[in-house]
Amino acid sequence: MPELPELQAHAERLTAAFAGRELSGFRAITFTALKTYAPAPDQAVGHPLIGVGRRGKYLLADFGATTFVVHLMQGGRIKPDDKQSARPRGGIARWTFADGSALLLTEAGTEKRAGVWVRDPAFDGGLEGQEPLLSLGPDADTVDVAAMSAICAAHSMRLHGLLRDQQALAGVGRRLANEICHRAQLSPFTNVAKLDADQIERLTDATHACIAESLTYERSRDDMSSSKERPGAVHHRAGEACPACGDVVREVEYTRYTVNYCATCQTGGKILADNTTSKFLK
Ligand SMILES: [Zn+2]
Repeated sequence: MPELPELQAHAERLTAAFAGRELSGFRAITFTALKTYAPAPDQAVGHPLIGVGRRGKYLLADFGATTFVVHLMQGGRIKPDDKQSARPRGGIARWTFADGSALLLTEAGTEKRAGVWVRDPAFDGGLEGQEPLLSLGPDADTVDVAAMSAICAAHSMRLHGLLRDQQALAGVGRRLANEICHRAQLSPFTNVAKLDADQIERLTDATHACIAESLTYERSRDDMSSSKERPGAVHHRAGEACPACGDVVREVEYTRYTVNYCATCQTGGKILADNTTSKFLK
């Protein structure tokens, strides 16, 4: 799933290519595409796209009094749509512009879960006061040592789970969680409420460094990377040598994802239990 850096670069590319274009229409192509009843998407018609921003793993297409909040889920993308066919492959929703151009939200795969929320930023104290952004934690790249310390103290849970918890920290998914734990030299299973000051500082620095590295890579591209192309030391690299110490990168499999780690760098050599029914890593 794309995470903060991929979505940030995606938003920047969309802004560069489409800002200033006046909306002429919005169409939900699938029944589940539009997640809100009010305001109507047509409220944005006649208004120019000011830009596309990002919050957590959401894209925010800003038309002034109307913002389209978009979640791409696993395989979603927003792409220029030259054909504008009636039934575009993988099509979820389409924005058309007065100059004849269009943007298409597509989602690869059979599970269509990407969606669009139409929001008026003047309501309820702004976008942050409304779903789906309502309960989002701060963007992970903005969290300093003091804030990270407070977040960890408030959550008695395992580090890998905390990093992926969008209500604690927004923008990090499975890949960045693996990379951040490795760079911070912390076990993915360590209880964050018990981290000391030095460990919190390493965690904060690693979070910033991993996001910055991925963002630099992503900004160098013309389109969003696939997960295999993204820079990293351990994610999906089980069996390869750890670039920091040369030990083998290991994996622990869970039903929906894999935790990758280096025992020498992160767990004092301890091999983590491979147990798909584990109740601990939620
Ligand atoms: Zn290592």
